[in-house]
Amino acid sequence: MERTFAMIKPDGVRRGLTGKIIQRLEDKGFKIVALKKMRISFDLAEEHYGEHKEKPFFKPLVEFITSGPVVAMVLEGPGVIAELRKMMGATNPADALPGTIRGDFATTIDENVIHGSANEADAEREIALFFRPEEFVS
Ligand code: UDP
Repeated sequence: MERTFAMIKPDGVRRGLTGKIIQRLEDKGFKIVALKKMRISFDLAEEHYGEHKEKPFFKPLVEFITSGPVVAMVLEGPGVIAELRKMMGATNPADALPGTIRGDFATTIDENVIHGSANEADAEREIALFFRPEEFVS
């Protein structure tokens, strides 16, 4: 069964959107097989967003993602990697359609409420980065 990594970012947690976002993911039919509220260390943030190291938004992004607690989870379900990306909507909430999480809950690209792995390789890498095998419940 396919798995992906999802994370409610500090803005989502701060604004009290955790419940609403998890509700959507469960309503869709995805199974949460691991879940935790945590503070991301600077090192973990830099590793997680490593592909963006040379981008101008890298430093503010790392500062933002470490600015408060996040809710990290692993979702399981058929086609969950692509389905979660669809449910999230475009990276820039200004382009995200109504009905998507970013379309409904966010306005700016730097604080866009949710992260979801982009593809199978990222899902595998990010799950291993955030969760130990004993943290999974099935
Ligand atoms: N980001 C940003 N400014 C940009 C592009 C991206 O702040 O111009 C942030 C934004 O929070 C985004 C994250 O960097 O979610 C990772 O970017 P990516 O292109 O991987 O988008 P995602 O996979 O999150 O949709």
